[in-house]
Amino acid sequence: MDSSAYNFKRCKLCREIAAEPAYDLGDSTIYVCRNCDFHFLSQLDCLSEKTTEEGQLNETSRRYIESRMDENSPLLQNRLNFVKRQLDLSQCKTLDIGAGLGQFQLLLNGCGAKVKGIEPSSLRRAYALEKFAVNLHSELVDHDYWQTGFVQYFDLITLWDVIEHVDFPRETLESAFKLLKPGGMLFLDTPSREVLSYQLSQQLYRFSAGKISLFLPSFYSTVRYGHKQIFTQQQLSGLIESCGLGIVFSTDSDTNKLFSSHKIILAGRKTEPTPAETKPSTVRH
Ligand SMILES: [Zn+2]
Repeated sequence: MDSSAYNFKRCKLCREIAAEPAYDLGDSTIYVCRNCDFHFLSQLDCLSEKTTEEGQLNETSRRYIESRMDENSPLLQNRLNFVKRQLDLSQCKTLDIGAGLGQFQLLLNGCGAKVKGIEPSSLRRAYALEKFAVNLHSELVDHDYWQTGFVQYFDLITLWDVIEHVDFPRETLESAFKLLKPGGMLFLDTPSREVLSYQLSQQLYRFSAGKISLFLPSFYSTVRYGHKQIFTQQQLSGLIESCGLGIVFSTDSDTNKLFSSHKIILAGRKTEPTPAETKPSTVRH
């Protein structure tokens, strides 16, 4: 399937045929759901093994990756500290979805966790292997590799800056949920739509009859792995809960201001196994 095969009137959050094109960004359109007010772009990556093959790692791609690499290290440490406050990482079976260069996996390994990582970009996987000796998986979380061999396997799943990038966030989280043990925890963060720059841009777009979109284009991107949806806190909390997780931490409860107000951070715990779930995997890993 490519983007043209998907009916964007079908809301990617509530699944109702209730979304309408609302903001024209030139190369794409932001759809808004009349039922749940979800905002998402008329763009899908439709990843497959063919489309994610980006050729060999070379000097140009290495330099590009390295030029952006250090930007995230304090953030990665903050995320690690946050996770460590919630659970003991020693022997913790962990899946890091959207693992990038494997740096978070390295930090988790350093705490005694047993970590697997998923990264769709073949260049990033190649770099992670070359630089950090981290072997990341290309299979996405909904792939049979995970959904048959790792059901109720993980104690911890992390999706740092991932859910805004995937084609179908609800399906991604439902797939991740199946891989969590009862009592297992899921952590994620993502940009928030409830920031002044977004709201101001919406107002200006309306007042200018669509002539000025201001910062809206900076929230989304049509390039591969670009941002395809921007959540509100309530929408993301609702989605997490509807997947079967109880919210343990949310940005709303972040009274100590551990995180930037531009982001939504959520931690959820899988409470009860649902009858529809299959039995734990008996495959040995
Ligand atoms: Zn909706």
